[in-house]
Amino acid sequence: MTILTSGARMVVTGAAGFLGSHMVARLLDAGVEVVGLDDLSSGRVDNLAAVMSNPSFELRVADVSDGFTVDGAVDAVLHLASPASPVDYLARPIETLRVGSEGTRAALELALDRSARFFLSSTSEIYGDPLVHPQPETYWGNVNPIGVRSVYDEAKRYAEALTYAHARAHGLDVRVARIFNTYGPHMRPDDGRVVSNFIVQALSGHDLTVYGDGRQTRSFCYVDDEIDGLLALLDSDVEDPVNIGNDGEFDMLTLAELVLELTGSSSRIVHEDLPLDDPRVRRPDLTRARTELGWEPRVSLRDGLIPTIAYFASITPSA
Ligand code: UDP
Repeated sequence: MTILTSGARMVVTGAAGFLGSHMVARLLDAGVEVVGLDDLSSGRVDNLAAVMSNPSFELRVADVSDGFTVDGAVDAVLHLASPASPVDYLARPIETLRVGSEGTRAALELALDRSARFFLSSTSEIYGDPLVHPQPETYWGNVNPIGVRSVYDEAKRYAEALTYAHARAHGLDVRVARIFNTYGPHMRPDDGRVVSNFIVQALSGHDLTVYGDGRQTRSFCYVDDEIDGLLALLDSDVEDPVNIGNDGEFDMLTLAELVLELTGSSSRIVHEDLPLDDPRVRRPDLTRARTELGWEPRVSLRDGLIPTIAYFASITPSA
């Protein structure tokens, strides 16, 4: 049954974040009334500038891990709140575990109380450093449970487990998206992820920092494609987890060279130490998304980098 209809009311945690802010804008475009929550620890009110005066939107500044509720009817609870960049979650390990556990529990309880659909933004990180490539949803993953990245990976794995426990125990209507590396406007210039780092470095004339030999791979999805996929899943009847991302696979040296070409920068490429437990490869198997959602990404890396570079150019001082 479609729930993405004009007049629906939805709650979005992490509303001021990179993905949250795009999600809020798209829900409002569809005529949905949105209550957003964010503690502004990694999200920014600036990301919501275009929607703050929309009467169908309300932002509440609160830490969802402390527990929360929202009065009135709720058709869906979208739990997007979490640090998502390795730099952010390594800096706030306990908070990351809390929002995956206590934050997810609070969001699930609200959904249960209002008989709402629950949507979890999970991650490709639940596959860890994968031994199966590309990664289908049936792969159980290869995660170091006590490694530095476990604060994010295990928090999201627990969040998935808690979500499906609520589906089984209470018949809660759930959707789980496993999001692969996404980029685009509204990423923080200092969030430490590779796309934002390389673009900001290229635009400001600094060296591009490739970690390790730069042969590790990621599959980068432009944010508009990502949100299309998340909305298709939200509005579908697919209760199993679904990978949402782009299955074009690039190594970090290739990405660095593409950013240099598209920015026209004369920055150099330098190598720095590879972070601990950095996955060697990552690429989604999108069979389930294609067959069950009828969705697939459309924007190539080159075409997505162009508006992303323009966004960072608008907020970054030039060299
Ligand atoms: N990376 C890099 N230079 C940077 C930032 C990241 O080479 O300035 C690498 C990082 O080691 C990883 C990949 O880029 O192999 C993607 O890192 P990111 O932090 O964007 O996301 P992850 O997929 O690791 O969560």
